[in-house]
Amino acid sequence: MSEEITYTLKRSIRARALRISILNRDQVIVTAPRTMSERVIERFVTSKSDWIISKLEYLKRLPDHLFLKNSKKDFQKYKAAALGVAERRIAFFNKIYGFDFKKIVIRDQKTRWGSCSKTGTISFNYKIALLPPHLADYIIVHELCHFGEMNHSRKFWALVGRTLPDFKLLRRELNGKGMRQ
Ligand SMILES: [Zn+2]
Repeated sequence: MSEEITYTLKRSIRARALRISILNRDQVIVTAPRTMSERVIERFVTSKSDWIISKLEYLKRLPDHLFLKNSKKDFQKYKAAALGVAERRIAFFNKIYGFDFKKIVIRDQKTRWGSCSKTGTISFNYKIALLPPHLADYIIVHELCHFGEMNHSRKFWALVGRTLPDFKLLRRELNGKGMRQ
């Protein structure tokens, strides 16, 4: 039974089917069509309880500070560390790639881990300083490889795979932290 799962029910006029989103370690949102009965919803949540519990447990194992709300204070606190990680790891990986870029910037972004611009700036979220190193590496290599391929084509992933053969696993591990690359 699903009594151990606490969730917030949201009714939506637009929802056609039930949807479960796990926004945080303790925030499960179930979106349901406006007229769907609570019994049907409850049964659906119960049928997904193993999946929900494993997701929540995964999130609980991640370090606390990843879940801090973005704040100016955190940004100030971790900015230098994030820049250090980015510079060090880019120097390491770019020995292999040899891409041209102009500068590295650390930003306080809510929805992105990193991005890069055609003018040669490569930006990272300050939270890369808080990630386990293998995931920070994935984000860094991902953005760096955009200087070779400005898209997510097969060629792009082949570039990423040159230094991170298990990039698919890394990408999957990063998903669920609610930000894009
Ligand atoms: Zn990308």
